[in-house]
Amino acid sequence: MFDTLSDRLTSVLQNLRGKGKLSDADIDATAREIRIALLEADVALPVVRQFIAQIKERAKGAEVSEALNPAQQVIKIVNEELVGILGGETRRLNLAKNPPTVIMLAGLQGAGKTTLAGKLALWLKKQGHAPLLVACDLQRPNAVQQLQVVGERAGVGTFAPEPGNGVGDPVDVARRAIEEAGRAQHDVVVVDTAGRLGVDEELMRQAADIRDAVSPDETLFVVDAMIGQDAVSTAEAFRDGVGFTGVVLTKLDGDARGGAALSVREVTGQPILFASNGEKLEDFDTFHPDRMASRILGMGDMLTLIEQAEEAFDQDQAEKAAAKLGSGEMTLEDFLEQMLAVRKMGPIGNLLGMLPGAGQMKDQLSQVDDSHLDRLQAIIRGMTPAERDNPKIINASRRQRIAKGSGVAVREVNDLVNRFYDAKKMMQQMAGRFGFGGGGAAGG
Ligand code: GDP
Repeated sequence: MFDTLSDRLTSVLQNLRGKGKLSDADIDATAREIRIALLEADVALPVVRQFIAQIKERAKGAEVSEALNPAQQVIKIVNEELVGILGGETRRLNLAKNPPTVIMLAGLQGAGKTTLAGKLALWLKKQGHAPLLVACDLQRPNAVQQLQVVGERAGVGTFAPEPGNGVGDPVDVARRAIEEAGRAQHDVVVVDTAGRLGVDEELMRQAADIRDAVSPDETLFVVDAMIGQDAVSTAEAFRDGVGFTGVVLTKLDGDARGGAALSVREVTGQPILFASNGEKLEDFDTFHPDRMASRILGMGDMLTLIEQAEEAFDQDQAEKAAAKLGSGEMTLEDFLEQMLAVRKMGPIGNLLGMLPGAGQMKDQLSQVDDSHLDRLQAIIRGMTPAERDNPKIINASRRQRIAKGSGVAVREVNDLVNRFYDAKKMMQQMAGRFGFGGGGAAGG
């Protein structure tokens, strides 16, 4: 997602580097290039026009900065404008003061509503909520069952009409579900509704009827980012037919050009709340306009990376590790534990992709893969506990045994042991300097 746009914008902005002063002609040329990049990414024309006008006006305006050179100044402006069209501040989910909070999902068939219901449920559950999924898509065959399946995977309950009673009335189901939520103490209710392949009146009326029956705190318009320009007209149809308070972009993992993401907010005036980027329930997160903008401009996404790290390493474990590192007591066992924690953060290529400048290192990054970590893990697992505790005892014959057992060359075992000692030395030096990890050494 956004790869092409990101490449284009980065190279346009790079052309400005080293210029001491930007003439109006420079700015016009840059604006033209940015315009082409946005149109190629399928961003809606009115949005592009306004974006370009803003960039030109601001770049030519009197915003002189002592700290930034002219190129950096333009990058800063483009970044701020991108954040702006993506919605500015991160918009959090509105929770009702008096539970249950009702969240209604609307969108075309195939947009990813049912999948989203599961993702949202898991996400809410992780934050301590007790969500209930409600099956109001009684049209699509299997939709109810599909919702029950994602509900089970997320570990939350699903409210559905009893089978065998004919098609059933989605409005009635929605109403009864809210009562059930009150009884069973669910504090959030997620209502999945029917979608059609295209926008039609019947669909809109049904969604509006459900809306009137449950008075949602949030109505989320779910849109497949891969449908390109159509996203805008679909969003407008749903805005006029049902109304919504927020947008969820799905399938951001696809290789689409990303124009939908950049247009929907500006065209409908409603913020993007979440982004979905995969078929697994975990492939889902709050949408942060600022982070998305830096990602598009190849400035990396350090904040997401840091958050993922915080999730993967629990505080306790991190403190214990720090203490051990500082006191020089780190063993290969700890090393393995750290490595496993890093892996929990996702495929290593994805993680590296979030680092600043990663866009331009794509080729190198594609070579860093999980199989390298797999080999390191295999080597450590091939050691006895005594060897992991005290790598000093790993002599030549032990190295050979370990290499054989883990299916690698002796050279790789040597490499790992050497790297472990380097890391240990570095950590001890750092600990000395920053004064962490008193552990056993300081004592009293
Ligand atoms: P609904 O008709 O709106 O309920 O859509 P579904 O939830 O059934 O999703 C339609 C298809 O899109 C399913 O095959 C999902 O697995 C897939 N899907 C949903 N969200 C995503 C996503 O973020 N990325 C990808 N790659 N596929 C998704």
